[in-house]
Amino acid sequence: MRQGLIIRSTGSWYDVREEPSGHIWQCRLKGVFKIKGLKVTNPIAVGDRVRYEIEDEVENTGTILEILPRENYMIRQSVHKTAHAHLLAANVDQAILIATLVFPRTSLGFIDRFLVTAESFRIPGVLVFNKQDLLSEDFVAFQQELIDLYESLGYRCLTTTAISGGGLEELRQLLRGKISLLSGHSGVGKSSLVNAIAPTLHLRTQEVSSFANKGVHTTTFAEMFELEAGTYLIDSPGIKELGLVEMKPNEISHYFPEMRDRLNECRFHDCLHVNEPGCAVKQAVEDGAIAMSRFESYLSMLGNQDNRR
Ligand code: GDP
Ligand code: ZN
Repeated sequence: MRQGLIIRSTGSWYDVREEPSGHIWQCRLKGVFKIKGLKVTNPIAVGDRVRYEIEDEVENTGTILEILPRENYMIRQSVHKTAHAHLLAANVDQAILIATLVFPRTSLGFIDRFLVTAESFRIPGVLVFNKQDLLSEDFVAFQQELIDLYESLGYRCLTTTAISGGGLEELRQLLRGKISLLSGHSGVGKSSLVNAIAPTLHLRTQEVSSFANKGVHTTTFAEMFELEAGTYLIDSPGIKELGLVEMKPNEISHYFPEMRDRLNECRFHDCLHVNEPGCAVKQAVEDGAIAMSRFESYLSMLGNQDNRR
């Protein structure tokens, strides 16, 4: 049996990239595939590694027989609780947020929401601060504080300037050989960066512009773009479109690494760290061991969750 990677899905047909040859077969799914404890509309998504057999060599078609165990997967929950979720992608190596502190400004709340979402999917989060050339000295200093903060929490940070080429080699290195989710507000320079690091990209202009968030996203994540052999990008419009996974209020703090470590120390095991006595998280905020901005993001996420119930 052959093994390959799903790089495109149209619903009933899948583009499977044969490993290691790189040849792409059009495959269908045979049999019933289930994800434990989850109802999904589609049992298979980009990033899935599969075993398949050739159906018709001339027609270039095949049959998928087995989905290999996943490192992780991302789903979009339906707003209707009873409805099925949509499987967006599997085996994502990293979730990268392209952020800018000016033109347009990415808020800390948005950054934290992105990282929490990545944590909830068990995908390592990475921050790329673009448009370095536009930063005043004050902003450079502020950005350095942010980088120190996020690196201390375990998130890799990079700085880039798409137009002059700053930091591009580091970005290339970061992406190489991986499946990366690339996200960011419109205007932060996502497509400029992609074009700058991959001028020979197999992408056509049309695709570049859809990559840059201007396209329609009804078929979210149905496709991965191959930057170079073995290096894939998944274009993600943003967190809102992604939809936070349904999180229970006392689940959210588990996705803040600096809170996760302290949860056992709270007096109440179901502490929400808002105004409970004996709260280790609030104490850490007072002591400066947890950044105020992170705590504020936490409270705002908690508030949104509450409003939703
Ligand atoms: P996207 O919507 O995230 O894909 O953003 P684009 O790549 O279309 O870039 C938005 C605008 O920002 C364009 O006018 C780019 O030329 C500009 N831009 C992108 N990166 C940089 C950068 O590093 N520095 C400066 N000064 N402008 C940039
Ligand atoms: Zn607490």
